[in-house]
Amino acid sequence: MIAILKQGTTPEQTQHLVDWLKRMNLDVHISQGQEVTILGLIGDTSKVDMELLGSLDIVESVKRVSEPFKQVNRNFHPKDSIVEIGNAKIGGGYFSMIAGPCSVESEDQIIEVAQAVKDAGATILRGGAFKPRTSPYAFQGMGEDGLRLLFQAKKATGLPICTELMNIVHLDLFADVDVIQIGARNMQNFDLLKEVGKTKKPILLKRGLANTLQELLMSAEYIMSEGNPNVILCERGIRTYETYTRNTLDLSAVPVLHELTHLPVVVDPSHATGKASLVPSMAAAAAASGADGIMVEVHNNPSCALCDGAQSITPDQFADLSHRVQLIREAIR
Ligand code: PEP
Ligand code: MN
Repeated sequence: MIAILKQGTTPEQTQHLVDWLKRMNLDVHISQGQEVTILGLIGDTSKVDMELLGSLDIVESVKRVSEPFKQVNRNFHPKDSIVEIGNAKIGGGYFSMIAGPCSVESEDQIIEVAQAVKDAGATILRGGAFKPRTSPYAFQGMGEDGLRLLFQAKKATGLPICTELMNIVHLDLFADVDVIQIGARNMQNFDLLKEVGKTKKPILLKRGLANTLQELLMSAEYIMSEGNPNVILCERGIRTYETYTRNTLDLSAVPVLHELTHLPVVVDPSHATGKASLVPSMAAAAAASGADGIMVEVHNNPSCALCDGAQSITPDQFADLSHRVQLIREAIR
């Protein structure tokens, strides 16, 4: 990190600032030019409050020359991380298809969809039990009963399960959940991130509706800094001025994240587009972009779904999509 001091800063003021920075265990390299003085901060600058430093009377500007995320940073861990979920693996050349309904609705529904997506090549079953809904009057999910049905589906099919945790108080109920999803709306729920960081469970961290990739990586850093290395990032579309689609799928996130981090990246074309007809194309595009997996909403009767029916594809459509994704993966190998 470098701090550029304002013209006219006295040597005493500079020394005062240097002493303050040194008390934060930083080494400071002073470069005294004709007109400006530049301080180079050496050491762990992740704890330096850039805004505070930049707001000081004598400071012109502050710039980071290295990223604030460390453990998720590819520079510190050049090899791709592979996250293992039961028999499934994601990352480092391993691809996973996560599929299932937006919400668990009944025993018949979840077992039928689980069996169908498994037959079509899914390696992980998704299904929400605790649902983050925009309206308090909308179906809120089956809660604990929904989790029980997911465990039944896991037993019936052998598929590991992925489901969303919204509240720390429910963490104990998730002991048999294979992948804990942290949804877009909770991407910056830092207390939740710290708690799941204390477990060793795989965490699927979805990008927030209006969050930058750096913010996504900082949230992943929260989980890793608590000791949990099993983080999977998920691009699920961001809010833009376009309203034809529910969100705008930022596919460039895949290669950007692969440059910046060793963590696996999956793409959710369902929440990204909001329209079932667009899901297969964007799933194919995600595979072509080098994603390590895709997450797709599949319902046995989309028109009757209690949540996200418009973006849910049928098991037959999922089988087609799965085949297309497979062909693309072979083509880019
Ligand atoms: C979901 O996966 O069902 C969900 C609510 O996703 P997101 O958090 O991306 O909106
Ligand atoms: Mn959904």
